[in-house]
Amino acid sequence: MKRIFGVMLIAFCLTLVSCAPACETNESFAMNTIITQTVYTSNTQVISQNNQIIRDIENKMSKTIPTSDIGKLNHRSGENIAISSETAQVLHCALIAAADTDGAFSPALGGVIDAWGFDTENAHVPDSAELEKLLSSADYRAVQEAAYDANIANAGGALIDLGGAVKGYALDMLAQNLSANNVSSAILSLGGSIYATGKKPDNTSYKIGIRDPYATENDYMAVISTDGVFVSTSGIYERGFTENGKYYHHIIDPKTGFPVENGLAAVTVIADSGIMSDIYSTALFVMGAERGVAFAEAHGADALFLTSDRQIITTAGFAKKYDLQIKGQWQSADNR
Ligand code: AMP
Ligand code: MG
Repeated sequence: MKRIFGVMLIAFCLTLVSCAPACETNESFAMNTIITQTVYTSNTQVISQNNQIIRDIENKMSKTIPTSDIGKLNHRSGENIAISSETAQVLHCALIAAADTDGAFSPALGGVIDAWGFDTENAHVPDSAELEKLLSSADYRAVQEAAYDANIANAGGALIDLGGAVKGYALDMLAQNLSANNVSSAILSLGGSIYATGKKPDNTSYKIGIRDPYATENDYMAVISTDGVFVSTSGIYERGFTENGKYYHHIIDPKTGFPVENGLAAVTVIADSGIMSDIYSTALFVMGAERGVAFAEAHGADALFLTSDRQIITTAGFAKKYDLQIKGQWQSADNR
């Protein structure tokens, strides 16, 4: 239940859109998250095509589905395994991002993440000896794309977890499907990743609420306007549990195997692709605000960091570019 609430909170990011004629809406649960779609089209097939795309990706990339590519890679870690071209593509992006972020984003943390059990009834702080052992085999550099073109990979003794990238990748595929169907206005939300394209029927831009990490699912601390870009948020509220009075969230520092504790509560990244917005939101959370701002600016992404003392830090020009409207007690830490 805790998990489902967690994802509902993010789904809130989808602003309320009144659905005129020639508009299809849908809410479903897949990829461990709530998915909402509003698509302005008279083609009733678009949403069912989208749902099929999501199911296909989940069946290939979920680590909890034993027959998925990731299930097979992890079950026979150290062996060369034939995988789908889609999984090869996501793994390729994840490994490039891992190198580029100096390991802040690591697709090889599957064993460590499993030990925390975030998505299970058995969520707990792992034993430190167990964590150390798991960390020693959680090296993304050991993961091989033995022949990327031939779609063969080898988890190299690690367990792969693409949970920080797959929802964004799925959004990319959904956006492609919208284009293929000549849809010019839509907003899609997969957990913490959102894509909005075109204008609403009243000719205004789509507005996306950024959730207040310290409030309930319906409370947002700011609103932004976007068109044709991908917005992903990594926040402490998404998944986590409390043990002995301390809250443990799901974004792991690959250096320690523990949830990141750097004074951040959430990071939103806006990028031209879903997969990069998703990967970077996780990576920038791990990097922290100072390094994260510099990294985002050098990599053509826009980012907004929320700190535990209710400060907002952004990349240069963010407020103007996305018409950032701040609500409540949150303060901008700079005048960018
Ligand atoms: P997101 O909510 O997109 O930030 O992704 C978080 C998910 O990515 C977690 O639930 C894990 O499955 C995975 N994850 C956690 N920490 C990391 C990390 N440092 N690098 C890559 N993936 C991670
Ligand atoms: Mg992410």
